[in-house]
Amino acid sequence: MLLADTKRILLKLSGEVLMGDQQFGIDTDFVAKLAAEVKAAKETGLEICLVIGGGNIFRGMAGAAQGMDRAQADYMGMLATVMNALAMQSALEKLGVETRVQSAIQMDQVCEPVIRRRAERHLEKGRVVIFAAGVGAPYFTTDSGAALRAAEMKCDALFKGTSVDGVYNADPKKDPTATRFDHIDYDTVLADNLKVMDASAVALCRDNDIPIVVFSIRERGNLARVLAGEGTQTIVRTELRRA
Ligand code: UDP
Repeated sequence: MLLADTKRILLKLSGEVLMGDQQFGIDTDFVAKLAAEVKAAKETGLEICLVIGGGNIFRGMAGAAQGMDRAQADYMGMLATVMNALAMQSALEKLGVETRVQSAIQMDQVCEPVIRRRAERHLEKGRVVIFAAGVGAPYFTTDSGAALRAAEMKCDALFKGTSVDGVYNADPKKDPTATRFDHIDYDTVLADNLKVMDASAVALCRDNDIPIVVFSIRERGNLARVLAGEGTQTIVRTELRRA
């Protein structure tokens, strides 16, 4: 086990990873593969909360850059995360994993609203809970949504599955000399403005003592490897608690 005594995790997946090799949207084959990874993680006995981004469909900042009202564009982004949540729910249930979607924007016909105690009950019953629509407010991201749900659901850690295998001192896609940290503390991430999650999400994790594990979800089987302590990742937590 990468982190001792981990019973409940929040897994955040960037919307981008749902595209697979496409340039946009949802690659259902790839979502099925991701669902299989979530299933395998659940079978190790973990309780799993999921948050999925919306960047594969719509990002508010992109809409705003094209002249849209920012808040309006952000609501579109939140709706994109609901679409991704429904796609993942469908993929998980195909594999026999019971799943509930709870959205921070109420839409009774498609999913439940966020109700913490109800989510708690779902987890007790062995269901995966997917929290959609971020925090339900514009000017936030699903990283903040993930940190918020991790705190309120008392998750032991936040696993951020993205397209890079950890936190680097520079952008590894642009700078070949960039090096990856194995461990780093929240305050260094914030002071050096390292690209892990947005600052409000990092601060919320710091204030609630929730370790953030950044890893690549693109390689097959990597979630299980990382959970078992055999993968490549960066762990963000307070200096004192470094391994
Ligand atoms: N969003 C928002 N409030 C939230 C969560 C998301 O306004 O609490 C909007 C925002 O426009 C964001 C978009 O939804 O750009 C998609 O989420 P995000 O960019 O976090 O997705 P990811 O980068 O993880 O794919």
